[in-house]
Parts: sequence; structure tokens; C-alpha cells
Amino acid sequence: MADHYEVLGVEKTATTDEIKKAYRKLARELHPDVNPTPDASERFKDVTHAYDVLSDATQRQQYDQGGSQGFGGAQGFGGFSDIFETFFGGNAGGGGSGAAPRSRKERGGDALLRVEVELDEVVFGTKREMEINTAVLCETCDGSCCAPGTRPVVCDICHGSGQIQRAVRSLLGNIMTSSPCGTCRGFGTVIPNPCPTCAGQGRVRATRKMKVDIPAGVDTGLRLQLQGQGEVGPAGGPNGDLFLEIKVRHHDIFSRNGDDILATVEVPMVDAILGTKVTLTSLDGDVPLDIKAGTQSAEVITVKDRGITKLRGTGRGDLKIGIQVVTPTKLNGKEREIVENFGKVYSAPPPYFAQFQQGLFAKLRDRFLNV
Ligand SMILES: [Zn+2]
Ligand SMILES: [Zn+2]
Repeated sequence: MADHYEVLGVEKTATTDEIKKAYRKLARELHPDVNPTPDASERFKDVTHAYDVLSDATQRQQYDQGGSQGFGGAQGFGGFSDIFETFFGGNAGGGGSGAAPRSRKERGGDALLRVEVELDEVVFGTKREMEINTAVLCETCDGSCCAPGTRPVVCDICHGSGQIQRAVRSLLGNIMTSSPCGTCRGFGTVIPNPCPTCAGQGRVRATRKMKVDIPAGVDTGLRLQLQGQGEVGPAGGPNGDLFLEIKVRHHDIFSRNGDDILATVEVPMVDAILGTKVTLTSLDGDVPLDIKAGTQSAEVITVKDRGITKLRGTGRGDLKIGIQVVTPTKLNGKEREIVENFGKVYSAPPPYFAQFQQGLFAKLRDRFLNV
């Protein structure tokens, strides 16, 4: 750690006034709002810390004698206020870190948008053009918050530290506490001429148009995180994130179970008995379907890889088709005669309680609970 006197560029014999003058001069050069380089910000902290110590008679005396007793010397502990802050989480008196003023730049807020998509858009993914009402960088001041051609100036009250130090009497004796400077609100600088466009905020509200890729396989309730697409922060701070909350609209025919698509096909009794081949139109085109002779109600035909493209991993789910055999409800005289004649030659037992079939109910559940 550099010597506090060297940091401020003053002699060891310097008066309090000389120390104050030296500090003000350096603060004007190095304050983060005036000089945004990381190097300057580090030096500013050192300079402020050195000033904190040397401007206080007691702390200066301790420092001159080789640091605070009992706390390992000067290394990292310049004076009482630092020790106090170390004990109390660096937030003594509700202020900041003491040495560093608060930055005007802050991260912008996150935003949430709800998006409704159709089930067929989920099969392969889709694109959406969206309008969001958000905060964007002020183009007049480019986030500096100052009217064009002007700059922030170091606060006269706290001399750029953003903190006001006060001695408070307590059971332990006098304790130095710091609280944010009321004049500059802890920034260490004030803006004499705020940007007229953004009223000194560095950002303005605007409607932004954007194209969004919605990947295949999304489901209701999923939140897509678009990093850096939220609001820009105050004074041009980094953007927050944009979250898109997905809602998949109800479809009258097709439903979904994970990456599988479920549907019901009604098959006339005669086709179920004799079997048939048909072509049906699913969400992504034609599906040839082979209905075998003797197909029963509640049977499920699985068409591989015709479900939803997986959001994570590769490949697609399946299309699962539940069969519903349709028994005729109205027969004309001739049809009735044929069925009656068929009944005379077809040998089948009368209705009876059959053996419990776990599989049948599992299939029924599969078809109806997920619809
Ligand atoms: Zn502006
Ligand atoms: Zn101030």
C-alpha cells in the first residue's frame, strides 16, 4: 500500500489545508464520472482513502505512528472509520464503502413479455416480431446525463467522496461514521446542466421492435431468457435481461404429452373389423396410417418421430394415435338384416366380466387424461 502522503503528493509536514487542496485537485482529475478509466477509479479510491485518514487529526496521528494499534498496522486499515466499517459490513451509518462514491451507472431492470404460440409452431419452432416498451440509451447525451458540451463537476460538499463523515458519541467513545452526501446523493459529482432530452437520467422510454426466435419444443410456463435485451440502466448502465414467458394455445384436435403429440382417430366399425389404410393430415403434413384388421377401441398406434422437436437434445417425440371404434347408431332395414344374419353365423360369447387388463386402462388414461 502506497504511502498516504505520496498518494496525495504532499509533504509529511503538510497542513490540513494543503492536504485538502491536494485532494480536491486530484479528485477533479480522477473522479469516475470525469475520468472513466479503471486506472483512474483505483487511484481515486486510494486518494480518497488517504484523504480520509490524513484529514482527521486522530487518524493522522495514528498513521504517523505506524498504524492502528492491535489491528496489524497500517495494512488495509488506515483509520478508525475503516475499522468500524470492517466490523459493520462496510456500511457504517447506512452509507457506501466510505472510499468510493456511488456510480450513476446501474444495471437496467429485467423485463417480462408473454407470448402465445400455436401448437403447430411448437413442432419446429417459430419467429415472432415483437414490440416492447422499454428504456433505451438517451441519444442526446449518450448516457452521460449531461447537456451536450457539459460535464459533471465534483461535489463541493463531500469533495467527490460521496460520503459525509461525522463523529458520533457512543459507549466506545467517538466513532467516525459516514453517510451518503445529501447534495450529490452519494455520486460524488453533481450535474449542473442535465440533459434536456432525458432529464438527466441517461435513458429514455421507447418502443423497441425486435425479432425473436422461439425454439421448437417450448411449453406453457417456460421462460426464455434473452440476455441484455431488457432495459438499459440509469446513466447508460448495462442492460437487464428480457424474459419471454410462453403460452401454448389450446388445439382442438392435437394435444401434447412432453414431446409426444396425442390425437384420437375415429374408425368405423367395418374398417376396424376388416382393416384399412388411410392418410391423415397431422400438424406437419400427411401421416399414412395402417389400421389392422381386428383393431380394438383404446388401442394406440405410435407413429415414430412425428411429435415435437425436442427443446433439449436431438430428435423428435412421437405421434400417438388413440383409436376409437365407432359403432353405428342408426341402421336402415337392409343394414340391420345383414348384421342380424352376421350375428347368426358369428360365434361369440355373450357379454361377461373379462380378466382385468391393466394395459387397457393405462392406454385409456394415456389418451384421456392428457387431452
Ligand atoms: Zn440524455
Ligand atoms: Zn457530495
